[in-house]
Amino acid sequence: MWKCPKCNREFKYIDQSHFCEIPKTIDDYIAVQAEEIQPILKQLHIMIADVLLDAQEVISWGMPTFRKERNIIHFAANKKHIGLYPGDLAITHFTKRLLDYKTSKGSIHFQYDKPLPADLIKDIVKWCLDNSGSKISGQ
Ligand SMILES: [Zn+2]
Repeated sequence: MWKCPKCNREFKYIDQSHFCEIPKTIDDYIAVQAEEIQPILKQLHIMIADVLLDAQEVISWGMPTFRKERNIIHFAANKKHIGLYPGDLAITHFTKRLLDYKTSKGSIHFQYDKPLPADLIKDIVKWCLDNSGSKISGQ
């Protein structure tokens, strides 16, 4: 495993060539992920954007972030799962519907080989819009 000192991404081979830039948009972020996970990340991007029609899309804390005056929700491509970061309060609120998913520190883990639960994700995004957003918002 080799970690590029410039962009902090991890690669199998030392000095592996890659698109070495800090992405500035969610589309850029998705474009530099492994090809096989790009479709599911695009799906998630669209699902969230569908609910947050007029939100700003930025990269904040190194993660795709939807912002409307404050950060509402983030997601990130982790090695073994997609992390959705709605904040602790959202996770408490949706506990019963999250029994099938691993959660930790304000994030929900979705496995790459399982379909994304669109209804659940959209409900969480709506809730984050109407309530407090991600824990790391407003910093
Ligand atoms: Zn790099």
